[in-house]
Amino acid sequence: MSSFINGTLEIVKNICFPITCCNCGNFVDSEGLCSDCWKHIKWISDPKCKICGTPFEIDLDAICPNCLRKRPHFDKAIAAFKYDDFSRSMILKFKHWDTTYIAEKLGHWMYGACAKDMADADIIVPVPIHFLKRLKRQYNQSELLGMELQKLSGIPYEPRILKKIKRTDPQEGLSRERRLRNVRGSFGVDENYVPLVDGKSVILVDDVLTTGSTANECSRVLKKHNAAKVIVVTVARVDQ
Ligand SMILES: [Zn+2]
Ligand SMILES: [Zn+2]
Repeated sequence: MSSFINGTLEIVKNICFPITCCNCGNFVDSEGLCSDCWKHIKWISDPKCKICGTPFEIDLDAICPNCLRKRPHFDKAIAAFKYDDFSRSMILKFKHWDTTYIAEKLGHWMYGACAKDMADADIIVPVPIHFLKRLKRQYNQSELLGMELQKLSGIPYEPRILKKIKRTDPQEGLSRERRLRNVRGSFGVDENYVPLVDGKSVILVDDVLTTGSTANECSRVLKKHNAAKVIVVTVARVDQ
């Protein structure tokens, strides 16, 4: 009898509050993406660069030319899927519109990609935005993703360690070199939280990894304050 009631309640709930795809708004049976949107996501898997995660065409257990030329300050970067026209529109919605519920799904996919590497991590730290930008947008997408990772992993989430201390021009459209110069010196570790970084393994969270210059600069600052390890986790990464 109770299963009959539960089943009926479920039907009534679905009629009153239909579940929709978190990207296109089509009706779906369970929360997440509809089958059409799911097909469009380009998930990242091996083989890839052991440090920055650049996918390789052939089966190689190696480091890419960029990382060989100049080793990044982070130890590893992990992304759930590729940044292309499809994922761009999904991430832009999350970034600029009031659709923060997407964070739950994105966080879930990120965790699927990085759970193994998070096993021995001590803290989750989001890439910060300048407080004036935060005031305007009211939230920082990296913080929402970091909180989701905390829920899934149980690892402490610490949004107060890193600070954006200098406003910078948008990174979009800048070359790799200019991006590096643009963010140089724009992040700092809050002096009250220096002991929290010392000797710790940090999960640094951002939405998209483009050239990696922001993640690299944050990692440089964290390592300067004795972080033992920095693993960058993003939703998507741009093919370089
Ligand atoms: Zn859809
Ligand atoms: Zn690499």
